Amino acid sequence: MHAPSLPDRSIDAYAAVTERDRLERLRSLAEALSDVRILHVNSTATGGGVAELLRSIVPVCNDLGIDTDWLVMDADDDFFEVTKAIHNGLQGSGEPLTDEMKATYRAVTARNAAEIEDEYDLVVAHDPQPLGMLEGLTERLSDAPIVWRCHVDLTDPVEEYRAFVSAYADRIDHGIFSRSAYAAAIDVPETSIVYPSIDPVTEKNRSLDEAEVATERDRLDPLSFDAPVVTQVSRFDPWKDQFGTLEAYRRARKDVPELQLVLAGGMAGDDPEGLALYEQVANEAVDDPNVHVLTDLPDTTINALQRLSDAVVQKSLREGFGLVVSEALWKRTPVVGSTVGGIPLQIEDGRNGYLVEPDDATAAGDRIVALLEDDERRTEFGANAREHVRERFLLPRQLVALLEVFVETLK
Ligand code: UDP
Repeated sequence: MHAPSLPDRSIDAYAAVTERDRLERLRSLAEALSDVRILHVNSTATGGGVAELLRSIVPVCNDLGIDTDWLVMDADDDFFEVTKAIHNGLQGSGEPLTDEMKATYRAVTARNAAEIEDEYDLVVAHDPQPLGMLEGLTERLSDAPIVWRCHVDLTDPVEEYRAFVSAYADRIDHGIFSRSAYAAAIDVPETSIVYPSIDPVTEKNRSLDEAEVATERDRLDPLSFDAPVVTQVSRFDPWKDQFGTLEAYRRARKDVPELQLVLAGGMAGDDPEGLALYEQVANEAVDDPNVHVLTDLPDTTINALQRLSDAVVQKSLREGFGLVVSEALWKRTPVVGSTVGGIPLQIEDGRNGYLVEPDDATAAGDRIVALLEDDERRTEFGANAREHVRERFLLPRQLVALLEVFVETLK
């Protein structure tokens, strides 16, 4: 296990975007947790939404006076191939789960559990990767309740994988899911529904001044913002359906010939599939100079790209929540997204973007055109988008909900 380095965060930085009552509620919950020590465990420090969330939540909790650690599992690609199969199986597709895969999973999780030496009063395990650690952890930290924070889309899991994960359920005291539809899949004693959130003060989401935007615009050359741009920011992962986005773009380009598409993505540390998919997507786009496949952009560049794009697309086939949707909406950019997982929680169809069926690239293309052809609509949707995220999907709201679960679980 290793502890990632974390930025400094102060709860005071959120005063400008949060009601005073909410900040007071946070402080009083933190007071109730001032003598407990909390451990978060997950499987990657970089890439993807979970790392993004922990990078904010952990330092803010410490600033609030809650002694909070974050440890990342040490593992190699053999393990991550198994956990990616588990992730895919829980989201509804997959290869058979073999005894060898189960053995790899058990060996690596047991080894990581054995490396935890400190005392903790509460453990929060994120997603399926650390579940195998729970046996070792409950033996050593016998009084520490376990919260399982599941970020995965559990709408339609493959039974074999659902059963594999469910076998760990009796070690879990409280399960937190991103949508009520997911909670039925795994039977744990207590459940809560907590929407994830974006952090408005990070480099990814803070406001940028004109000079900063101009610098990022130059950095993105040869992409030109003098012609329309639509963007999808996603890990290279089959669930993110970059090929469907390409199809939607090709449909939209028939009406908007100068249209450019950006597929910006990265490889999460725990995702061995990423590179192969990136190569396939880049290959598919190689003959079209208006398609820009960009990898590993710095956060400030992602920030500017989400701001400068005329529309953002999120054509996922499954999506636990999809932080990228709120990230774009917060920057007043309308989003065309599919009706899966957490996306419909964020997109209000016809108010801040459009929802389309996940297998309907033509509809996605049509909706992109509808936005590109109507400047007023984009501005109005952008204003609605900002308010929708401000009310529901900023970090202080999620933190209140999480701390409430922690206080309740420790009673
Ligand atoms: N992200 C990024 N660079 C990339 C691709 C993704 O910084 O090239 C970030 C993105 O901005 C978001 C997170 O990774 O904060 C992805 O979270 P989301 O919930 O959308 O999807 P996940 O990857 O967890 O399935």
